[in-house]
Amino acid sequence: MKNNFLFLMIAVVAMFRVNAQNTDTKVILITLDGFRWQELFTGADSLLIGNNDYVHEADLLKEAFWRDTPRERREALLPFIWGQIEEMGQIHGNRKLESKVDLTNSMWFSYPGYNEILTGTADDENIRSNDKVPNPNTTILERYNSTPEGKGKVAAFGSWDVFPSIVNEERSGVPVNAGFEKATDNLNAKEEFLNELQDQIPSPWGTVRLDAFTHHYALEYMKKEHPKLVFISYGETDDFAHDGDYQSYLKSAHNTDALIKDLWEFTQQNDFYKDQTVYLITTDHGRGTEPLDTWRSHGSDINGAGSVWMIAFGENVQPKGEVDTEEQLYSNQIAATVLKILDMPIPKEIEGKPMKL
Ligand SMILES: [Zn+2]
Repeated sequence: MKNNFLFLMIAVVAMFRVNAQNTDTKVILITLDGFRWQELFTGADSLLIGNNDYVHEADLLKEAFWRDTPRERREALLPFIWGQIEEMGQIHGNRKLESKVDLTNSMWFSYPGYNEILTGTADDENIRSNDKVPNPNTTILERYNSTPEGKGKVAAFGSWDVFPSIVNEERSGVPVNAGFEKATDNLNAKEEFLNELQDQIPSPWGTVRLDAFTHHYALEYMKKEHPKLVFISYGETDDFAHDGDYQSYLKSAHNTDALIKDLWEFTQQNDFYKDQTVYLITTDHGRGTEPLDTWRSHGSDINGAGSVWMIAFGENVQPKGEVDTEEQLYSNQIAATVLKILDMPIPKEIEGKPMKL
């Protein structure tokens, strides 16, 4: 009898612990705009890295990122992903190994891609341009922000200035710092300096800022406010590609890999996030390969621009490494996956099913 009671107590305590752990999980959802699966899995492209049309310092670029094998090339380009994430998480979308991740929207450009990722349902009827139209659909950020547990515990950061519309900042109440917006409200010293620097370091583009600003605004906010659901969208890769600047595209991808490592190292030494955070990383669309110049472009007329990839690591994510078995995942599954991790109900209007991580 005594033994049974003890056993029951242990079981109750165990259940409680599992429960507490689930509801405490934080999610950091990251995107690299228009970064191709080809570079993720095979590193620098042999047809582009020495090509004078797209590269102005081929020798320097090759020294940094050219190696004999695809495995070495990807490790040189993305050392955190292929050095640490591969060991602790899952990397989906290497089509050469029959692991496929695809968009379900048929537009293959940014707003429709982010709408699909953030709402879990493609909307080809309404989301057909990158215009700054407030999103009629509800994102997971908005859903979480409208629960007692999530209220005020959600934040979005983007390099592209369309995110306030994609997240529908006004209706959702989710704070979005995007484009050339500055940090506001009880600024710390770093945020004050970032605000100053953002004016003094001109971006190459009119609607997209350099990713270091997006990154550090996000990081400082996380230190101060401890959001439980964070969305960070890095944008440089897409814009350097449109510019036809393969050199900067690679350097930016390499830098973003280091920024993600920086986030991981912060969360692993912060009590609020340590060992209770899941990272999901993906992209809003692919780009072309054939003819060669289509690496710069995407959209429904570009072959292959609907092919994407997905990375997951962190709390309770099985370490499968690079997935090398046949599978078919879709970008519309990310929203449901995030809701499941956050222990939220999945509404029936969400088309994608949660992934088993
Ligand atoms: Zn683009």
